[in-house]
Amino acid sequence: MTKPAVDLTIVGSIGIDTIETPAEKREEILGGSVSYACAAASFFTHTGMVGVVGSDFPQEFRETWSNMSIDLEGLQTVEGKTFRWGGVYHENMDHRDTLFTDLGVFESFSPELPEDYREAPYLFLGNIHPALQLHVLEQTRNPRFVLIDTMDLWINIAKDDLAKVIAKCHMLTLNESEARLYTGKHSLIEAAKQLLETGPEYVLIKKGGNGSMLFTREDIFLLHAYPLDGFKDPTGAGDTFAGGLMGALAASGKSDKEAIRQAMVYGSIVASFGVEEFSLDRLKQLDRDEIEIRLAEFKEMCRI
Ligand code: AMP
Repeated sequence: MTKPAVDLTIVGSIGIDTIETPAEKREEILGGSVSYACAAASFFTHTGMVGVVGSDFPQEFRETWSNMSIDLEGLQTVEGKTFRWGGVYHENMDHRDTLFTDLGVFESFSPELPEDYREAPYLFLGNIHPALQLHVLEQTRNPRFVLIDTMDLWINIAKDDLAKVIAKCHMLTLNESEARLYTGKHSLIEAAKQLLETGPEYVLIKKGGNGSMLFTREDIFLLHAYPLDGFKDPTGAGDTFAGGLMGALAASGKSDKEAIRQAMVYGSIVASFGVEEFSLDRLKQLDRDEIEIRLAEFKEMCRI
């Protein structure tokens, strides 16, 4: 059998973001779930991006991705405006409000996988409408491992579609509040138990700066976040974490529990770099050696 062109396919949103933090405001910067996720995955494996941009999309942003060796065959460019999103972070950066969402070409996005991507053994369905996630999944040929992410919006307005696609995935990731919203359970253990009954073998609950928890039917794995001495922009941290995880998992060629635990640690380390700067500014300067150095520091911190 010939090797697929990409080992990992990622679909999600591409946005031009305007972000305000208590310290700074940045306008028209590169964002979107697939942008963060592909950037993170690119440190580990050959990754294909599936998304849409408008005719106004800056060449400079495209070059950022190309320089990270992200495969752009699945990137559609459509006449019109690129999706734009604005958000503001409040005092301690743990709460964010959306200021505006202009869908632009994202409104009529129909993700189509290039022939080359359909055989990719790993698939990450990043945060877009669940009907589109299902459409992507249906174009693939028996992937070994599929991770799905979502957000409160889809839990509120498209829960039936979401349930359909979650049932077909190996792993579901959401943050604490989304897990509670989806299940109506406050306890994360009860929420995870309920989610595990909906299909996936693994449920990964993200807790922002407090790390993450991986649930299976047999056990729980706890991962602390790398302690950062200040960060600039938490936007896309969850996408970076999940993208790094899937990249590392694809590089391992495995999909068992031990490999997932290892991959989670890589995802978390890459996410810790990502939030040090806005957009992909830190990730585009990062190299694999720095990841390994921080990983070794992190392991030492966790040693019992
Ligand atoms: P996160 O911090 O994980 O919520 O991801 C932030 C990224 O999601 C930003 O870079 C936005 O461009 C993008 N985004 C914001 N709202 C949406 C939405 N409704 N659907 C898809 N992507 C979005």
